[in-house]
Amino acid sequence: MTPLSADDRTQVLEDASFQFWRHIRPIVQIAMAIHVLLLLMFVALDIPALYLGNALSLFAYAGCEMALRRRRFRLAGMLICSEIILHAALATWVLGWDSNFYMYMFCTVPILAFSFQTAPVRRALLSMSILLVLLGGYTLRRRLGLAHPLSPGLMDTFGIGNIVFATALLMQTAKLSVRFTRSMHYHLFQKANRDSLTDLYTRRRILQRVPQLLPGVPVAVVMLDIDHFKDINDRYGHDRGDLVLQRVAQAINDSVRLTDMASRWGGEEFMVLMPDTSMEEARQVAERIQLRLRQVPLSEEVDARQVTATFAIAQIRPGEDFLDGLKRTDQALYEGKQRGRDRIMQAH
Ligand code: GH3
Ligand code: MG
Ligand code: MG
Repeated sequence: MTPLSADDRTQVLEDASFQFWRHIRPIVQIAMAIHVLLLLMFVALDIPALYLGNALSLFAYAGCEMALRRRRFRLAGMLICSEIILHAALATWVLGWDSNFYMYMFCTVPILAFSFQTAPVRRALLSMSILLVLLGGYTLRRRLGLAHPLSPGLMDTFGIGNIVFATALLMQTAKLSVRFTRSMHYHLFQKANRDSLTDLYTRRRILQRVPQLLPGVPVAVVMLDIDHFKDINDRYGHDRGDLVLQRVAQAINDSVRLTDMASRWGGEEFMVLMPDTSMEEARQVAERIQLRLRQVPLSEEVDARQVTATFAIAQIRPGEDFLDGLKRTDQALYEGKQRGRDRIMQAH
């Protein structure tokens, strides 16, 4: 495969970042909601260091939202990761290690790993900060949080609440990251395997699918080639030609069954792959397409001309190579053109 150019690589990262943050955005909103709750709680408990810290956090999240809206994804990543790390450090300092505030830092891992793929220095700095807070907090655990006014019962409630919230948030972040990866893969699969003009399968996908069909299952194909398509282009223009291709594709799609795979085989040539199908059933599908094609309008002007196509149907013989079967089909199609077009031929 040709390696990506620098411009293409930038585009890939830009597209991936956009999609990643589209999926991860609910986390920013959940985190913001948690901070509003904590702010109210710390005001009620009268711990100024924490409610002032929380107020700053809310600014960070507002900044993050703004950065996302302006597509400044790395800035958004930096704001959310720094906020979580600094906030965890502050809360651990004030309330102690047992408050379990450090756990929220684990939620940053998927964001940190994604956002700073190409910024190793920032990634290393943020990772080191997490490690520092964890090691520092654990080492100093007996000396931290001695001055806070919370009762042991309330501290336990905080400890348990943070375990539950931080774990739920981590799982949610991981789930959304996986969903992002899957949606990207799905999107690329569609792009690679669907023709951009007609949305039918590409030849590539059909050839990939053929070896996966169960051996011994009778496979039939319908191949069709639009008649005098060059004339259509010449008379009505290329754009109208494209529109005709789209309508023909629609006619094919409307005529095939769910188990069939309709593809654009080449310029104005289409192929339907039909697993577990007899020749008779293949003929029926071809006839249905032929009938639908008669309803494809060519021109809004008064014009009696219709789109027609020449068809060839074939069954791949047991043990026959698929491409050899296609050659027979192509031959039948060629004969159909010779005999005057607009007809259904059967391959021998
Ligand atoms: P026949 O009945 O023998 O099939 O004649 P034909 O004119 O359909 O066949 P020919 O192979 O001579 O011409 C096919 C034309 O299809 C030529 C090409 O410009 C046109 N074509 C191929 N792909 C596209 C496309 O994506 N859009 C448009 N508008 N035209 C296309
Ligand atoms: Mg052709
Ligand atoms: Mg043609």
